Amino acid sequence: ILQNKAEDVLAKDRKYVWHHITPYNEEVSPIVAVEAEGSWITDINGKRYLDAMAGLWCVNVGYGREEMAEAAYEQLKTMPYFPLAQSHLPAIQLAEKLNEWLEGEYVIFFSNSGSDANETAFKIARQYHEQNGEPSRYKFISRYRAYHGNSMGALAATGQAVRKYKYEPLAPGFVHVRPPDSYRRPAGQSVEEFNLQCAQAIEDTIVWEGKETVAAVIMEPAITGGGIIVPHPAYMEKVQEICHKHGVLLIIDEVICGFGRTGKKFGHMHFNVKPDIVTMAKGLTSGYLPLSATAVRKDIYEAFKKSAEYGHFRHVNTFGGNPAACALALKNLEIMEKEELVERGRILGERLLEEMKELEAHPYVGDIRSFGFLLGIELVEDKTTKEPASAARVGRVIAECKANGLIIGKNGDTVAGFNNVIALSPPLSATNEDLEFIVTTLKAAMNKMI
Ligand code: PMP
Repeated sequence: ILQNKAEDVLAKDRKYVWHHITPYNEEVSPIVAVEAEGSWITDINGKRYLDAMAGLWCVNVGYGREEMAEAAYEQLKTMPYFPLAQSHLPAIQLAEKLNEWLEGEYVIFFSNSGSDANETAFKIARQYHEQNGEPSRYKFISRYRAYHGNSMGALAATGQAVRKYKYEPLAPGFVHVRPPDSYRRPAGQSVEEFNLQCAQAIEDTIVWEGKETVAAVIMEPAITGGGIIVPHPAYMEKVQEICHKHGVLLIIDEVICGFGRTGKKFGHMHFNVKPDIVTMAKGLTSGYLPLSATAVRKDIYEAFKKSAEYGHFRHVNTFGGNPAACALALKNLEIMEKEELVERGRILGERLLEEMKELEAHPYVGDIRSFGFLLGIELVEDKTTKEPASAARVGRVIAECKANGLIIGKNGDTVAGFNNVIALSPPLSATNEDLEFIVTTLKAAMNKMI
């Protein structure tokens, strides 16, 4: 492909490829990546970029790991496919390994994407209550600003304005509450008070909806795509207490926060909570192959054995847990353990935050927040009114970084005007030099804006 002229390739891209999310724009060419190594990708023109968004698609161990490719290749040669209606060794080994990582007893349902994993969780949660001899509960509570996937259920759980775009009606029964967006809390409230009030809103919602109708609460440990909104620990603990009190399941979406991104194995491990269901995807294979998982607390699974009528979970996923992806995931976790990447992410995250703190004085920086090696810089037009920065202003920082070989992200709520959070989530394997490059390039781009 490199032999083709870049313009020809771009012309073909425009003709044949429907890009995810990015609107068609004649003026801006997409990066056509051809190879990648460590934290860096090379495009069709030979230009190199440090991918400081790699972690949002969760290339945690970095690009270009031959061991990962070999693990998949060996498995493809030995036995490329067999459905999990039966079983195979890579899935069994991976399910066992995930129990170690989760530090609890879970049974694992494998699928292919984060959306898939959440849909699976919703169906399990709905069936579970009836399984337990209760009336069927069918509602889910999630938060505004959170993203949970693109399918009709996962999008219904999503609390971003994109949910309302052109796709309604979505799956019914999803109710949203305010996230603990502490930066925008009412004046005079402490962060903890505000967070506890947000948690209380969940209990109020359960009661007002009728607890006998609410199947589960779904939340990420910190809202990632919606702007890196990190809760006070008291929030998560109170949410769990509320769920227990009302017999509502707690589903934790670890699709981004899982596998070391936050400086712990899973994001929820920062808090004193034990989720009933954990969904995971991206970082499970460091993005090398599609694979996701819904980890279900053992006793919930056991309840499915109670009656012949309900003992059957009628949910199939042809490619879910395919052997090559499972073998690759095992290799991914082996690398993470050997290279202590969870701990490395924690250390790099602290250093990145320390470096970026300097930007707090910047006239367009409203807030800087981080969760392990995931950093958000919320840009505003005015530090006092906190008016979100315009799309043009955020766009200029991103374009300047891109011109200088740094890919950064823009998080927030895509339609509601809060799409103003610069996001950084480099591979956990990033080198010290990579970190230095990110810091100097981003600071220079920000300072150019003054
Ligand atoms: N949950 C969260 C928190 C996510 O960030 C995403 C994807 N960005 C999903 C679910 C959906 O994952 P997928 O795109 O693999 O379906």
